[in-house]
Amino acid sequence: MTPRTTTLSRSGSHARTAQTTRARGTQKTSQTATKTQGQEESVRFAALGGLEEIGRNMMFFEYKDEIVVIDAGLQFPEEETPGIDYIIPNTTYLEGKKQNIKGIVITHGHYDHIGAIPYILDRLGNPPIYTTNLTKEIIMKRQEDFPNSPKPAFIMINGGEKVSFGNYFSATFFDVVHNIPEGIGMILHTPIGNVVHPGEFKFDYGHDGKPKGLDTWKWVGEQKIHTLMLDSTGSETPGYALSERIVEQELEKLFRTAEGRIIVGTFASLLDRLGEIIKIASKLGRKVAISGFSMKSNIEIAQRLGYLKDQKSTIIPIEEVKRHKDDKVLVLCTGAQGEPNASLMRIANGEHRYITVKPTDTIVLSSSVVPGNERSVQNLKDSLSRQGATIFHYKMLDIHSSGHAPQEELKMVMKLVKPKFFLPIHGYYFMRRRNAKLAQEELNLKPEYTILADNGIVVELRKNEVTLTKEQLPSYYVMVDGLGVGDVGEVVLRDRRTLAQEGMLVVIASLSKQNGRILKNPDIISRGFIYLKENQGLLDEVRKKIRSIVGRIPRHQPLDADYLKTIIRDQIGQFLYNKTKRRPMILPVIIEV
Ligand SMILES: [Zn+2]
Ligand SMILES: [Zn+2]
Repeated sequence: MTPRTTTLSRSGSHARTAQTTRARGTQKTSQTATKTQGQEESVRFAALGGLEEIGRNMMFFEYKDEIVVIDAGLQFPEEETPGIDYIIPNTTYLEGKKQNIKGIVITHGHYDHIGAIPYILDRLGNPPIYTTNLTKEIIMKRQEDFPNSPKPAFIMINGGEKVSFGNYFSATFFDVVHNIPEGIGMILHTPIGNVVHPGEFKFDYGHDGKPKGLDTWKWVGEQKIHTLMLDSTGSETPGYALSERIVEQELEKLFRTAEGRIIVGTFASLLDRLGEIIKIASKLGRKVAISGFSMKSNIEIAQRLGYLKDQKSTIIPIEEVKRHKDDKVLVLCTGAQGEPNASLMRIANGEHRYITVKPTDTIVLSSSVVPGNERSVQNLKDSLSRQGATIFHYKMLDIHSSGHAPQEELKMVMKLVKPKFFLPIHGYYFMRRRNAKLAQEELNLKPEYTILADNGIVVELRKNEVTLTKEQLPSYYVMVDGLGVGDVGEVVLRDRRTLAQEGMLVVIASLSKQNGRILKNPDIISRGFIYLKENQGLLDEVRKKIRSIVGRIPRHQPLDADYLKTIIRDQIGQFLYNKTKRRPMILPVIIEV
């Protein structure tokens, strides 16, 4: 096991626990943990991400020398991680036991479930990936960008099938409805009982308004379930999901009012929604052109697998849009979040090769705004609006028809599955706690039968109890920045934050090699701190201060440049703080001539 230098955790205490766990040696700890329990051996469970955030979902089950992993997703960067591309789960513990990993089950093709695969596959010894056809295709498409990642070994699974992972674990899979096709859930058969992980799901409603697929949940409930895990993303949303039929009807109504072109911006990953839009367009006699790399490749994969079969003639290449009348065209594109390089932004900025906004255009943003993107979405809408287009922002549809079961649907599943224990997954603590409360009310479970485990905490499952241990596996962030994985640590991030918030000041002092005297007035360069021209007085004071610091250095011994840099940094830092109440990064440069 190679100890990682990346140590970032949002709380100091976490970082410390992670450190001690590593110091103790995780391998040893786990052996003692299973043995010292005496009477009954436990199945160990831990999540390496996804339990304190939305994203980087990854968890595993372990019994003796066998491990089964579920999902390997990424998380998009936060405000506190400037310049970072992605955050991926910390696989340190699993890397030390890679020979035990029997497989990784991927529940569906969203990035928060597949995104870390190219980064971790090699580290985990390239174990087989169990997943459905569409998910496999999406994973393979992404692997093209990672020529150094090993070729994944897939084992295809379908709802209704059972697979065995080794001596101790097997799983029966079942289909679930999410907002991307071919989502899968599973009953994991373990030595202590059946654990249900349904992946991510919502209910689908028929034309009669009744939920479909309840038979599956009823069947799951007949399998004597020890522990039920449920996605907590929708646990704060009351009611039922809005039926996709209603979403379809609403979109159709809207499309019918459009007199010119229709341009729809949404997520490339919402494959179901994309399919619906294409279907409606075809019904209204409009051709569909797709703009955006990820959206195009997702739709191509879906078509290749036989989805959207009837719509083959509907889809046209984007360069052919001009050959059709405006009221016979619909453009589907990425970028409803105002992402700078996505299609809709390029259309808005007049940078798109084939589409420029016309006043007769109807532009529909069909996705809710991801928190943090509000400002760029406003700018996008402003820019489109100034060019005269009519804009509809259908975020309500998305909130009420997201891919995640809201409260009433979660409760229905709880009631049908009737587990002994409940373990909420996916989501921040407050969401998981809300989910646990629902289970306590719905199933009359005592709070100790609903388990709130944070990332990295080892949970031991026995026939008649589930316990949170004190064992904390490394679960601090591993950050991906450009080509580097895990090489951006807390120090680099702190510097980025300081540079972003306070700016920097470089002081260059030239000293005589012979006597250590300062040779000329120190040079000062500033970026993002103060405007030098208007602050000559302050700069003169800084120069004077540096001369006096250097003057105080004893002359009779060789110059210790590191020591000198440290005191310049400290004293100039303090001086500037007293004068400006700002703390720029100070970079002293000592030149000996
Ligand atoms: Zn999902
Ligand atoms: Zn997800």
